[in-house]
Amino acid sequence: MENENTEKPKKNKIKIRSYPIIVLTLFYSVLFAALLFYVARYSYTHRAVLLDNSYNTRTQILLNQNSRGEIFSRDGDVLAYNTKDLDGNDVRVYPYGKEFAHTVGYSTNGKAGIESMANYYLINTSIDLKEKVKYETAGEKYPGDSVYTTLDVTLQEVAYNALASRKGAIIVSNPKTGEILAMVSKPDFDPNLISKEWSSLISDKSDDAKLLNRATQGMYPPGSTFKIVTALAYLKAHPSDYDKYRFTCSGKYTYEGNTITCFHGENHGNVDFISSFAKSCNTSFANIGLSTDAKYFKKTLDDLMFNQSLPVDMVYSKSGATYTEDSTSDDIMQLSIGQGTTSMSPIHLNLITNAIANDGVLMKPYIISNISSADGKTVKNYSPESYKRLMSDKEAEILSSMMEKVVENGTASRLKGLSYTAAGKTGSAEYNSQTSDSHAWFTGFAPAEDPKISVTIIVEDAGSGGSYAVPIAKRIFDAYFGVE
Ligand SMILES: [Zn+2]
Repeated sequence: MENENTEKPKKNKIKIRSYPIIVLTLFYSVLFAALLFYVARYSYTHRAVLLDNSYNTRTQILLNQNSRGEIFSRDGDVLAYNTKDLDGNDVRVYPYGKEFAHTVGYSTNGKAGIESMANYYLINTSIDLKEKVKYETAGEKYPGDSVYTTLDVTLQEVAYNALASRKGAIIVSNPKTGEILAMVSKPDFDPNLISKEWSSLISDKSDDAKLLNRATQGMYPPGSTFKIVTALAYLKAHPSDYDKYRFTCSGKYTYEGNTITCFHGENHGNVDFISSFAKSCNTSFANIGLSTDAKYFKKTLDDLMFNQSLPVDMVYSKSGATYTEDSTSDDIMQLSIGQGTTSMSPIHLNLITNAIANDGVLMKPYIISNISSADGKTVKNYSPESYKRLMSDKEAEILSSMMEKVVENGTASRLKGLSYTAAGKTGSAEYNSQTSDSHAWFTGFAPAEDPKISVTIIVEDAGSGGSYAVPIAKRIFDAYFGVE
């Protein structure tokens, strides 16, 4: 039986990875530094371009004529508005300060977040002529159009507070519609002070990269959350006999001279396909990856949008997962458990999670629900739109039930026995094998039988996903379902 670990699949010649994991640590630090540089440079060059461009003349006319429109939450809370300082200059105010920093963004020193995405509407006005006369008579600018978002202030606050002083990111969305309900990135900044603090924000040499929206731009080793991808590839390769898979974990697995260990060297004993996933057994998943024909693994990476553009309107980073003719058995084992050179953004993992929760179909994520004139006329409406099918409904159903098992008797048991049923996958992504330092991940949804909300969480340098990311998911689910 090819699934038995007693018969190892035939793979290429031995090639022991000679560079230590510290190189990967450096690789991720350099990625963050490069992204920070990019954000700073983009804002700078963007500003320079705007200054010389004829488009800017038009923008300047609009800004002289209209005051920047307001941004609202889904329930009508104001997230950004204009006021005047003592000298009569326009000042942008963000009532929630740091909480929505990366998501709502800022509009001076370049633009970011929703301020950037919806800039066109915010600086234009659609009020009617009668209204315009009123503003002219009062000697005031016309109000720009209002932007209504899909953001939920309560969920944003819960997520923001749950991440506390940790670095990381959280995305909360509705898998059935694609609406983004909350998006948090830390470390953060106060958008009310962006001009004042700009030079220190862009010259910060630490790896804080405060301007970086880690939810969309952060590139992390996905660790065990990537077992969702490996499991899907195996399901495609073994659609009728995946449930016959058996493996004996001894906490350590050596193949062609390369060794994979389970988290903290834990010995999981006899496992099948479902329990390998629930217990997040690395050695079994290294074997599962090796037992999956290359063409299915590659197809799965393509289907799940790796090394490709994502349907995301905000600035984001492309995830990287490589499986080529030159991949060694060690590369494949590392890939199968989301380590090695595999990198992923939290938003990408959230999209895959949403597709699983929505019978295999990914809804296009969106954060702006409608644009209205200041006098209440609808200018543009955005509605749920299906983007594409990432997997069959049968595959989504199997993965979904496997994610339920993770809660029932696996690494996310802190979500067990609640008034709602949750499903998900944890990850403890090592970024330094010498010290076993790891990022804590969780991605999942609830209720498992009829998903209404999904969360994807990464807590940098925290430890295991089960201990550090799952409790955050619980706080967000509790808030959503009104559990005291
Ligand atoms: Zn194991």
